[in-house]
Amino acid sequence: MSDTVGTDMVVGLEYVLKLGDGQEIDRSNEGDPLEYLHGHRNIIPGLESELEGMKVGESKEVAVSPADAYGEHDPDDVEDHPRSVFPPELDLRVNGMLEIRDPANPGGTQAAMITAVTDETVTLDFNHPLAGETLHFSVKIASVRAASDEEKAHGHAHGAHGHH
Ligand code: ZN
Repeated sequence: MSDTVGTDMVVGLEYVLKLGDGQEIDRSNEGDPLEYLHGHRNIIPGLESELEGMKVGESKEVAVSPADAYGEHDPDDVEDHPRSVFPPELDLRVNGMLEIRDPANPGGTQAAMITAVTDETVTLDFNHPLAGETLHFSVKIASVRAASDEEKAHGHAHGAHGHH
């Protein structure tokens, strides 16, 4: 059905995203739903599977567990580094973000959050900022249309915002 969310359909999605404590962290722009190509892993898998089969105009509350969102928080990805390896002028604040050169990917960087600073060590958390969080989505299907051949070949939607 052309009004039903399924594979190879471009879906216009209105959403509000909150954490378990009720803090709102993201929402679609007013009157400008997020457009994505369904079935191509363009959104987190736990949300995509819940949207499957919904029709235009339908709303739903979806809770996505960490395993189906940004993963569990992995303590092995929290590392202590000697304070001395950081340039002295660098502003090292708890909850600040750093870009660290990635040894496994020359030229690439990894984002890390500073979780503790002492005179001796700086503790960096390389987990995704939303790791370990259950995500609470309020969603509404604003539109559904069949994807073009080009969109299917690219694996993403080409919306009013031009090609990307
Ligand atoms: Zn494209």
